[in-house]
Amino acid sequence: TQLFDSATILTRDLKPNQEFRFEVPPSTSITIRLTAGTAGTAELFGTELSKGLPYTFTCCKSAIYTWTGCSLSIEGTPSVEYIAEETPMATYLNLHVALEKLRVAASDCPPTTDGAQGPRILLVGPPDVGKTTLCKILTGYSIRQGRKPMVINLDTAGEGVLTVPGTISAASFGSVMDVEDGFGSSPMSAPSAIPVKLPLVYYYGLEAAESGVRRYKRLISRMAVAVNSRLEEDIESKNTGLIIDTPSFDNQTNGDLISYIVAEFSVTTIAVLGSERLYNTMLKSFSSQPPSSQSQQSSNVNVIKLPTSGGCVDRDAPFKKAIRDAAVKKYFFGDDKCTLSPYTVTIELDSPTFSLWEIVDSSTENKNISFLPIGEDESSLQTEDEVVRKVQAATEVDSRYENMVLAVLQVDARDVGRKEVAESAVLGFVFVQEVDEKERRMKVLSPVPGRVPAKALLVGKWPEGMFLT
Ligand code: ADP
Repeated sequence: TQLFDSATILTRDLKPNQEFRFEVPPSTSITIRLTAGTAGTAELFGTELSKGLPYTFTCCKSAIYTWTGCSLSIEGTPSVEYIAEETPMATYLNLHVALEKLRVAASDCPPTTDGAQGPRILLVGPPDVGKTTLCKILTGYSIRQGRKPMVINLDTAGEGVLTVPGTISAASFGSVMDVEDGFGSSPMSAPSAIPVKLPLVYYYGLEAAESGVRRYKRLISRMAVAVNSRLEEDIESKNTGLIIDTPSFDNQTNGDLISYIVAEFSVTTIAVLGSERLYNTMLKSFSSQPPSSQSQQSSNVNVIKLPTSGGCVDRDAPFKKAIRDAAVKKYFFGDDKCTLSPYTVTIELDSPTFSLWEIVDSSTENKNISFLPIGEDESSLQTEDEVVRKVQAATEVDSRYENMVLAVLQVDARDVGRKEVAESAVLGFVFVQEVDEKERRMKVLSPVPGRVPAKALLVGKWPEGMFLT
C-alpha cells in the first residue's frame, strides 16, 4: 500500500531568502524533498538538504530556509504550513561570520597560547525564542565551514542533546548533522549514526535549574573542567570554541546562574534573544566594567542582542512531553534509520553491587517528603551535600520506580559516597520496566547486552515517568 495519497503531495516554490515553516503533530508524519531538478539549495536550521532525498518529520515545529530560492515537495499533511518572507537568517549568518573570524585568528595562534581558544558563545533568553534553533544553526554553519564545534547543552528541561532529557551534555561535532533529527538522542555506548565523539553527560534529574541550584552549579563546574581538558587534546575543537545552549533565563533571579556559567566556561560572547530587559541586565553586568574582585571576566565579554524568528512557536506542555518521551524512546529503540533493540536485563535488589541513589529536589514547593528516610527531616536537605540520598534497597524499592529512567553512573556501586554520586558523569541509562518486590529484583531495559555494570544508579524526577512500550 502506498503510504501517502498522491493527492496530498504539495509543491512549494520558495523565492530567495524565504522559508517554509511547518508543524507536524506527534501522531502523524510528513516527508519533504528538495525537488531533484531544482536549481537552488535549502537548509534546515543550518544543515543542508540533499536534492531528491526524502526527509521524514514527526512531532515537530520546524522550517526549511533557502538563500537561493528552491522548490520543495511535501507528502502528507502538516497541521500548519506557510511560506515566510521575513526571517532573522541574515543576522544569524553575520553572527556566524563574526565567530568565524575569531576562529581564524585562534587557528593562527600557537596551540598552547590563550589566543588559540576560539570564541565561546552563550545563548540566553526566555522560553521558545529560538535559542536551541540558533544553537543548531551556528553548529551547522561551523561544521559546513570545516570546523569542530563543541556544543554544550545546559537545558535540562528540553529534549536533551544526544541523550535523554534531564541531562546536561557536551559533545564535539565533527561532521554534518542529521537534517531530521538535529542533535538527536542515542545511547552513548552503542554505535551511532551521529557524528560525534563520545558525549560527556551528567544527569541532573530535575526539571528546573533552580530546583537544585547547588548541584546544578557543581555539575557545570565539573563539566567545564572536563571540557577544557578535552579541548587541550583537540586543537581543532579548541580553535572552534564553544556554543552553549541554556535553559530559559528570563528574569533577574537567574542573573547569578548566568554569571556562574559565564565564569566557568570563560564565555566570550553572550547573545540575548527575545528579551530587551535581559539584554540590558547582561549589558550592565558584563560590558565595559572594570574587572572587580567578584567578576574578573566582565570586561572581556561581548553582549549582543539578536532578533527572534517569527516562526518560533510556543510548544504547549503536552507537545513538550511528547518530544521528551520520543527522545527517551529513541535512546532505547533508535529510529527508522538506525533501529536499536534494547535488552531486558534483571537487577538483583539484594546484591551487594546494587546501589540506588535519588536526587533530592531542594525547591520547597516540590519537596517530596514521603521519599525521606525515617529520621531525616526537611532541614537536613539544606545541608551542602544533601543533593542526593541513598535509597534503602531493602525497604524502599517498589513499584514507584517503574517507568522511570535510571542513570548508570561512572562511579562504582560499592564504597561510594554522596559527593562522588552527586558529581559523577554518566555511562548510560536504563529504563525500569518492572519491580518484583517479592522476588527482590527489577527488570530494566538496557541499550547494551549483558549485566548492568556494578556502578551506582541514580534516579531523578525528570524526565517524569512514562510508558515506553
Ligand atoms: P528555545 O530554545 O528558546 O526554547 P527553540 O529553538 O526550541 O526555542 O524554538 C521553539 C520552537 O520553535 C521549536 O519547536 C523550534 O523548532 C521552532 N522554531 C524555531 N525557529 C523556527 C522557524 N524559523 N520556523 C518554524 N519553527 C521554528
